[in-house]
Amino acid sequence: MSDKMRAVVSTGPDEYGIQMIDVPKPGIGEVLCRVKAVSICGSDPGLFAGHYQSKGWPPHYPFVFGHEWSGEVVELGPETSGFKPGDRVAGEAHCGCGICDNCRRGQYTLCLNYGKAELGHRHYGFANNGAYAEYGVFKVKSITKMPGEVTFDEATMCDTAGVALHAVDNAGVTPAGYFVVYGPGPIGNLAMQIAKSRGTRTIMVGRRDRLRMAGKCGADILVDYEKVDPVEEILRITDGLGADEVIECAGTQDALYQSVKSVRRDGNVVVLALYPKDDLVVPLDSIVIRQLHVLGSRANPNCSKRVLELIQQKRINVNELITHTYDLADIKTALDVFSHRKDGAMKVIVHP
Ligand SMILES: [Zn+2]
Ligand SMILES: [Zn+2]
Repeated sequence: MSDKMRAVVSTGPDEYGIQMIDVPKPGIGEVLCRVKAVSICGSDPGLFAGHYQSKGWPPHYPFVFGHEWSGEVVELGPETSGFKPGDRVAGEAHCGCGICDNCRRGQYTLCLNYGKAELGHRHYGFANNGAYAEYGVFKVKSITKMPGEVTFDEATMCDTAGVALHAVDNAGVTPAGYFVVYGPGPIGNLAMQIAKSRGTRTIMVGRRDRLRMAGKCGADILVDYEKVDPVEEILRITDGLGADEVIECAGTQDALYQSVKSVRRDGNVVVLALYPKDDLVVPLDSIVIRQLHVLGSRANPNCSKRVLELIQQKRINVNELITHTYDLADIKTALDVFSHRKDGAMKVIVHP
């Protein structure tokens, strides 16, 4: 094995390209993996463009992004066990320190030692080098063995589907109730599929291609907000009660407001979009008078094993969402197709 590898190296905002760099060495509790597939995340175009530098993403240049990946274990670091070379694994972005109060509660995406690599924290593709490369080094805490029939392309959806699963867990599901999702992107689509697998009726709010895709993936009722007022439509469908649970993945002021207005009294609203600012209007009077439970949901703690099993059992269909695949060398085209949703692009995968 050569000690150099191809990687997409970012050298500044909007400056990136393929370079030959050193293959990293696994440390304690880490494995070296051959990356087989990486899915472009909704956050990647902004990361490559340098839009999140105020959050410390990336903390330095040169940097390697990419956090929705799958691959094969090649080599174990010292004092590392539980995996062996050849194991097929899927990655997740967050790796908690394991010792802080939040990690000890299992909430490692809220690790109190965020960014402290010396204490074992990692946030791959954001605060630590990620997977747009032939190889990457990852803590064993952040990888999960793939069940037999799951493909590498499917397994790149582990992180995204985990975000959806955590949001659905936070929202709860009422069997034979109504579960609304605002925002039919990959996370919204998968949240809809996971909720549906638990026996509720699903309503997807969106428009055009992505709404159609939600229909193909099993959404029971499609609401096109360009044609009808979604709140009125949801109240009509639910005999004036409102939905039992609503998930907001669209990330817009309208969708946030409408999400709160769409849920029934004492119902649950889960908010998980990345909002550009912290100053959006939330209808607080409705929340109090109608006794709503509005919760934030961050990332995907303890979800990977379950989502990989959901994929294997075909309870969720991720293949429908994978619209394009490219070689790593074509990263610019891949990002362009993804960000401009060219040719109906939903999930775009690159192969190192
Ligand atoms: Zn992601
Ligand atoms: Zn921690």
